[in-house]
Amino acid sequence: MKAAIETSALCKCYGARVALSDLALTVPEGALLGFLGPNGAGKTTTIRILVGLLRATSGSARLFGRDCWADGPAIRAEVGYLPGELHLYETLTGRATLRFLAAVRRRACAREVERLAGLFDLELDRRVRGYSRGMKQKLGLIAALMHRPRLLVLDEPTSGLDPLMRRCLFDELRAVVAAGRTVLFSSHTLGEVDALCDEVAVLRAGRLVEFERVEVLRARAPRRVELILDDPAPAPATLPDGFTLLAQTPGRLSGRWAGPVRPLLDWLGAQPSVRDVRIVPLDLEELFLEYYQSDPDTPTPP
Ligand code: ATP
Repeated sequence: MKAAIETSALCKCYGARVALSDLALTVPEGALLGFLGPNGAGKTTTIRILVGLLRATSGSARLFGRDCWADGPAIRAEVGYLPGELHLYETLTGRATLRFLAAVRRRACAREVERLAGLFDLELDRRVRGYSRGMKQKLGLIAALMHRPRLLVLDEPTSGLDPLMRRCLFDELRAVVAAGRTVLFSSHTLGEVDALCDEVAVLRAGRLVEFERVEVLRARAPRRVELILDDPAPAPATLPDGFTLLAQTPGRLSGRWAGPVRPLLDWLGAQPSVRDVRIVPLDLEELFLEYYQSDPDTPTPP
């Protein structure tokens, strides 16, 4: 089976600025991939290359085995794309906008448009200039979804949506992948990616720094450890390797544990002053945040 997305040694420079460096990403069909990274990491650049709006400087980008640039028109028929910044025809109604886009795609989408407008509770017979920001976002989502594309590429799709609509969108995206279609979901809301996605790719300074299943990340997330000590017993003289001390007050000590938990349990068993213990895995939002906080490597031009 061809991968939905496959890039190798993909690079993009804007003049002297390296936006993307040596990106290798393979996303199988049916995946729901979260696409994360700090501002300026290269997410939009990657997305625009994938949907054939931007030409890579070097390397290859393929969707379903076809080259994103050379086979652009054929690929775009299979892709639903929601850009981060939507530009709509303000004087058209929502319905006329969708009719126009369906005609350009030469696809009959009227039934799906009705279903999606019902799902997102959007009045289609008003002019776009009278839409609120969230309503425009809903129209963009319907435009991306209405032809039931094999691949959905969504750049910050929840921006402007209220929590109820976010939930509707998540249910719809889960149904999309359950039907074997693929979703690339770019977001800055880390909790959303945690709640929705099976896998995450993290870009930083134009490089892929993580690409893993969410459940694997969850299993290897560091743990927050809190020890309650017999007061006034002295705190443990030494801490085991892997334990990072974060705070210490009389009778209480807290830190972070990375790696398998067995050595920590063995050490705890040998500490007479430890009266109680709490070990909680870091949630994924905190884990993802670490990718944003660490110092980015400066990519070098290819
Ligand atoms: P954000 O989360 O802020 O939307 P992003 O991860 O989508 O960021 P990109 O928009 O892909 O990042 O930008 C990657 C890098 O490329 C940034 O350093 C940006 O300044 C630069 N860049 C993007 N578009 C252009 C352009 N048209 N000309 C010059 N530099 C650009």
